[in-house]
Amino acid sequence: MDLKDLYRDVILDHNRQPRNFGVLTHPDAHADGHNPLCGDRLTVWLRLDGDRVADIRFEGKGCAISTASASLMTEAVKGKDRVAIQQLYERIHTLLTQPHVAASDASLGKLAALAGVSEFPARVKCATLCWHTLNAALEHSADAVSTE
Ligand code: ZN
Repeated sequence: MDLKDLYRDVILDHNRQPRNFGVLTHPDAHADGHNPLCGDRLTVWLRLDGDRVADIRFEGKGCAISTASASLMTEAVKGKDRVAIQQLYERIHTLLTQPHVAASDASLGKLAALAGVSEFPARVKCATLCWHTLNAALEHSADAVSTE
């Protein structure tokens, strides 16, 4: 099994059984996101402990990449503060747009499975939708965000 198969398996697994999927009751913040290019829709709910994401859940309908990316993101950001989340997003963005630069970033863990998306530039917005939506929720914005 080569790395590409492994990455595809991670994406398929997180699409089939998304982690932290469902409504979070009594959230401190939430936001809706929409990627009109693909039709992906997501809602992200947060429970905050000061500057830290104590709990996160998401729900939505979208393609396998948007669902898997959101599932992987919720696992990765739980327990992290805003600064750490912003730094992680910047590394994910590099992975999606300049994979040759990000290739050596072993600290991404399972999120590295998104590397394959870089071969399909039109799908990058599917993978980043959840991060834009998380950002909007962190800004305590109840407004819908769009990747457009
Ligand atoms: Zn999509």
